[in-house]
Amino acid sequence: MADNRDRIDKLRGYAVLDDFERFSAVNDVFSRSWWDDTIKTPGSERFYATYRRPLTQWRKANGFTQRDYALRNAAWHVSDVFTEMHEPERRDGFLDPLSMLRDGPEDVLAPESPEVGAAETKRIAKLFGADMVGITAFDERWVYTERFSADTGKAKANDLPEGLTSVIVIGQAMDADLIQTAPSALSGTATGLGYSQDAAVLLGIAQYINNLGYVAVPSMNDTALAIPLAIEAGLGEYARNGLVITAEHGARVRFGKIFTNMPLAHDKPKRLGVREFCEQCDRCAQACPARAIPHNGPTPVALNRSSLVGVKKWSVDGEACFGYWTKINSDCAICVRVCPWTRDYTKAWNRLWGRLAATPLRGLMLKLDDRLGGGKRLKPKAWWADARGSASSAT
Ligand code: SF4
Ligand code: SF4
Repeated sequence: MADNRDRIDKLRGYAVLDDFERFSAVNDVFSRSWWDDTIKTPGSERFYATYRRPLTQWRKANGFTQRDYALRNAAWHVSDVFTEMHEPERRDGFLDPLSMLRDGPEDVLAPESPEVGAAETKRIAKLFGADMVGITAFDERWVYTERFSADTGKAKANDLPEGLTSVIVIGQAMDADLIQTAPSALSGTATGLGYSQDAAVLLGIAQYINNLGYVAVPSMNDTALAIPLAIEAGLGEYARNGLVITAEHGARVRFGKIFTNMPLAHDKPKRLGVREFCEQCDRCAQACPARAIPHNGPTPVALNRSSLVGVKKWSVDGEACFGYWTKINSDCAICVRVCPWTRDYTKAWNRLWGRLAATPLRGLMLKLDDRLGGGKRLKPKAWWADARGSASSAT
């Protein structure tokens, strides 16, 4: 008899199987670049050095000049301040949650109801600068079994307070024009800005919750997997490129989360029709220079120790992807740039495209996007020329 348990969940775009194993942050490819000699290479050390130290030799290539790195690293700076504040014991936002400075009161100010609490929290998240916000139940499956300590090069406990019930997931849209220049150090500016904004927004919301007397743990890449939480919180649908595609910004979003015990109503996953679209499209797989994105359908196969075990899904090869990043000395967002869903939804035509792409007209919408040159790279020099043009017209 056929076993239906591994059927892809229509709402979520993946299936959790019986042999599911929770993930350890020690096996995250970025953690491995600290301790695993197959990932920790002269290339990976140079890659990190470009974020931290003035380079003595700047590449001349378009998008990788001193000016491009100057901007990228400035965009990361606020995030870096938080990350490096408690080194070597902690790396806030990447290996450990963001540190809160002030304790909340002993008295708890409860929301009128979980629904009111959720509505207020979402309003406040937007006020503090979140582009998207959704709330889901605390689900231990997505919490790392252990953290990685860069200090010792070993695992450490993933301590979380008892009694957490909800996760507030926020999304920050990355700058569309910068992403269009991927791959380049210039496009890494969008990533850095996303993290820097994330840190400020997450800390603000967490402190508000804390000031009401509840527990709040603000988290960026640390503590738990963001993608399943973002999907559960109704922010988007899982895609072939291993990212969440949102109705508002496509795949051009970074996610952060806050774990809390405040009573909050939960959102539900939403269907956008991304899965059916990805079944007809493999533009990201074709464009990936590292061949890290699968051309075939979702599988339960774990590609390497950085893969999730026991989940049937489109799995991106994190080792191959990170290997490419170390070659170009910056993060790569080609799979975000080329995705037809990555478009400016403030424009009426793009909103219409998104609505039709979610219907049986998806094949036509894909062809139309191909015809119109969707996903084309913007030359970094053109981005800088545009920046200079705006400056001269303003004077
Ligand atoms: S970020 Fe670049 S290398 Fe990594 S999966 Fe996407 S396209 Fe491939
Ligand atoms: S490029 Fe195509 S296949 Fe890849 S995530 Fe986007 S829609 Fe899916």
